[in-house]
Amino acid sequence: MIRYVGVENIAISKLNVTVFKPRAEIYIDEDKCVGCGRCVEVCPEDVYALKKYSEEKDPDKEYKSIAVHPERCILCLSCLEICGKNAIYIYSQQ
Ligand code: SF4
Ligand code: SF4
Repeated sequence: MIRYVGVENIAISKLNVTVFKPRAEIYIDEDKCVGCGRCVEVCPEDVYALKKYSEEKDPDKEYKSIAVHPERCILCLSCLEICGKNAIYIYSQQ
């Protein structure tokens, strides 16, 4: 299980409205992940990317999802819903 944590909260000020993006803690179970890329496609904030995993022996599962931008997560939970392997766990740090 690999843990990814957003670096900091980001405040976006626009038209006198300030939106605080939540800080998420994302875990991806590399034993369950099959590298299908669904989480990469569904995430509206481009949190995920696929990466070749050198320790994987099964050639059909050599790619794994990694959270390259956990600080962008808005906790929409679309990735949890679409992952057929239940490989993703997300916790709000707020
Ligand atoms: S949707 Fe699940 S199994 Fe597919 S790449 Fe993402 S974490 Fe891995
Ligand atoms: S909860 Fe939403 S924003 Fe966060 S990583 Fe999943 S799909 Fe992306």
